[in-house]
Amino acid sequence: MTESPASPVAVLRKDALPRTPNMPDYGAARRRFDWRDARAALEGFVGGGLNIAAEALDRHVAAGHGGRLAVRFVDRQWRRHDLSYEALWHGANRCARILSSLGLGRGDRVFSLLGRCPELHMVTLGALKAGLTFCPLFTAFGPEPLHTRLSLGRARVLVTTKALYTRKVAPLRAGLPHLEHVLLVSAAPAGLPEGTLDFSALWAAADTSFETVRTAAEEAALLHFTSGTTGQPKGVLHVHEAVVAQHASARLALDLQAGDRYWCTADPGWVTGLIYGVLAPLLCGVSSVVDCEEFEPERWYRLLDEERVTVWYTAPTAVRMLMKAGTDLAHARHYPELRFLASVGEPLNPEAVVWGMEAFGLPFHDNWWQTETGTIMIANYAATDIKPGSMGLPLPGIDAAIVRRLPDGGVELIADADTPGELALRAGWPSMFRAYLDQEARYRACFAGDWYLSGDLARRDADGYYWFVGRGDDVIKSAGHLISPFEVESALLAHPAVAQAGVIGVPDPIAREVVKAFVELKPGHAGDEALRRELLAHARRRLGAAVAPREIAFVASLPRTRSGKIMRRVLRARELGLPEGDLSTLEGKA
Ligand code: ATP
Ligand code: MG
Repeated sequence: MTESPASPVAVLRKDALPRTPNMPDYGAARRRFDWRDARAALEGFVGGGLNIAAEALDRHVAAGHGGRLAVRFVDRQWRRHDLSYEALWHGANRCARILSSLGLGRGDRVFSLLGRCPELHMVTLGALKAGLTFCPLFTAFGPEPLHTRLSLGRARVLVTTKALYTRKVAPLRAGLPHLEHVLLVSAAPAGLPEGTLDFSALWAAADTSFETVRTAAEEAALLHFTSGTTGQPKGVLHVHEAVVAQHASARLALDLQAGDRYWCTADPGWVTGLIYGVLAPLLCGVSSVVDCEEFEPERWYRLLDEERVTVWYTAPTAVRMLMKAGTDLAHARHYPELRFLASVGEPLNPEAVVWGMEAFGLPFHDNWWQTETGTIMIANYAATDIKPGSMGLPLPGIDAAIVRRLPDGGVELIADADTPGELALRAGWPSMFRAYLDQEARYRACFAGDWYLSGDLARRDADGYYWFVGRGDDVIKSAGHLISPFEVESALLAHPAVAQAGVIGVPDPIAREVVKAFVELKPGHAGDEALRRELLAHARRRLGAAVAPREIAFVASLPRTRSGKIMRRVLRARELGLPEGDLSTLEGKA
């Protein structure tokens, strides 16, 4: 790949651990691991079958843990709304009854368009209990992306609020023939728009008992749309069997343990927010906190402090925004019980990993997965050493490899360490997606022989750690080098003036492509010629002339998806004056 060192930061050794993790010895756990044992750790139905909601709720209530706090919602005024496991179970049962009473059949699709609120959790679990397929939508979507997803997903039911319905969905309704029922949360009955039902009234009248449908493990459970970072979002279908990996990965990669107070900052409109925000903590029987508000550094520190969060799962953009706000702000609060920090969604630059030590006395643990993989596949674990900038090691039960695609449609494994290629996973883990909605050929094209091909480029070092190189589409080819945008961005982020960086290749007649960087500065720095030169020199020192950016442009903000990922394809399109493509998930669009 590049001639630059893999990581400028020394390995972070795990000598003293705050407490014994679920997986104290990665090597031993990996050797011993068997998905059948992971499945046996769950209840399942007598005679076979599996249901995610039964494992998330019924199992704990039956075991006498109904009184335990399941979720605490914290609103703008810092009012706390608590749901015990039993209260959530009752609420989900009511939803399951309402949905069943609408005459839906197995596999019919229920969509939600809700902010972070108790109803979202109840509807998710209620739909799963009723044997329906659930699909969450993000509330900031405008009418067009909503229409695309609702019609692609052939939604039969939508649960939303009156305000969101009136503003965004009502004008589309005529074009959504499959959408039979719209249920509105907390709508005043007098003002119920035509063609909608009062969810809250139905909910209050519904019985709190419901016998969970005995779904087969291979029955559809969840539909998620990808982030749309590289193009039009794809509808990804998961089955109930995924629960085995949801539970195992939350225990092994996030180290969720009894008594934890867990905070996942992702919105449930995205796969991370639903799998690890709503479902996984329930599967592990822990309590979680949900912030109903948007990102704000002081608020986040207050929440970590006052809610005594123990395990925190967030994203690189958020970490970089906290770094931008200054470490002093972090030090104004105390986090004596915080013991594990994790991050996902984008590459986490080494400085961000290490900044965790400065701010909280704990490093961030990067992990990698995709909507398609359904759960965390590669991670840094509580007991394994961290090489900052690396995604870590494959989850026990997951075989990863670096491969090269062959012209005949097969793949060749790349055994040599540090040689980049496509990141592949041996097919067959429980949360592997089972389809791209209406795109059978595209689904099949993701597999070659035994392997699922992720479309991401990575390399593996001699110790088995995986390093993200870039998305297939984002990698830059310059003068015979394969340049990782992540590596260039990381080098820029190591400079004290840089808050965020996005790097692309722009066409060059001689080198084929040259590296151009777009940089967002931290407060107090002016994007002038002197700083531009300084950054160019800084990057050249760290990366070498062949890899360092040839050009740097200062921008007020980078184009990002609503889930916080830098959209390099938009930077490229803008740079080249090309159409920007599908922008439905671009931040700031509604
Ligand atoms: P689309 O497929 O629509 O372009 P997307 O790939 O961003 O969108 P997701 O499934 O939400 O949709 O994201 C998965 C991708 O995010 C991965 O394929 C990878 O490119 C990136 N990613 C996730 N976690 C990490 C990580 N820890 N390090 C580097 N990249 C990551
Ligand atoms: Mg993708």
